[in-house]
Amino acid sequence: MALAAVVAHGGAGAGPERLANVERAVAIAAGILESGGSCVEAAVEACVVLEDDPVFNAGTGSVFRNDGSVELDASIQTSDGRMGFVIAIQETPNPIRVAARLLDQEVNGLTGDGARTWADEQGFPRSQVEGRPPFQRATDTVGVITRDGNGNIACATSTGGCSDRPSGRVGDVPLPGCGFWVQEGVGVGATGIGEAITRGMLSYRVAEKILAGMDLEESMIWALEDCLEEGAEVGLIALGSEGTGHGLANSKNMPWASWIARK
Ligand code: ASP
Repeated sequence: MALAAVVAHGGAGAGPERLANVERAVAIAAGILESGGSCVEAAVEACVVLEDDPVFNAGTGSVFRNDGSVELDASIQTSDGRMGFVIAIQETPNPIRVAARLLDQEVNGLTGDGARTWADEQGFPRSQVEGRPPFQRATDTVGVITRDGNGNIACATSTGGCSDRPSGRVGDVPLPGCGFWVQEGVGVGATGIGEAITRGMLSYRVAEKILAGMDLEESMIWALEDCLEEGAEVGLIALGSEGTGHGLANSKNMPWASWIARK
């Protein structure tokens, strides 16, 4: 049996005042895991809590694109080899639920109108996402990584995308290896300027370092120092096959929290 664990963040630029909001989501995931729930259930429900919290740039509080639309990206991957992601889906306040439904389909990812049409077919109700005007530090996407008692890991991430981005823009969150990566009992999630994260293929490279034996924190320090261009605000969370999850950002603004079951 593995020790169940959770680590979550509220975005690279969200600010420490959002810590309590992240802790609430971690507590939800911990409760699910303690009562025998799977890593997927725990990661999705914690992510939904954060999507429903209007202070975050995900779900309800997603920032408008340059044309005033609200387009959401979300992804989930599991250590048993499954993956689901949606890109620029509209009228879907909880895109992580649609991404999670894709875990068991032949198709991994869907985008735009096609994603929404498939969500209709699957019975996900359409509902206008409120959104909010873009602001300077709109790098307050959300992410959760969970490990359940069987040692399985899931990483769930959701965003409305950075401020000042056009409709149709694709950030790191729905791109495998960039905003998320889970492999052989290691999960990594990223937040911050999505273009920089994508160019650095950050999550995959951090996971590789951890799998090669580097400590979680050391791997993140390496990625933030060596795999990014100057000035890009970025944060990471990671969880291994044992021990507690960890978070680190290159600013002091990323609220993150973790939990591990008692032995
Ligand atoms: N990484 C997200 C994106 O570029 C933004 C964020 O993390 O806040 O869409």
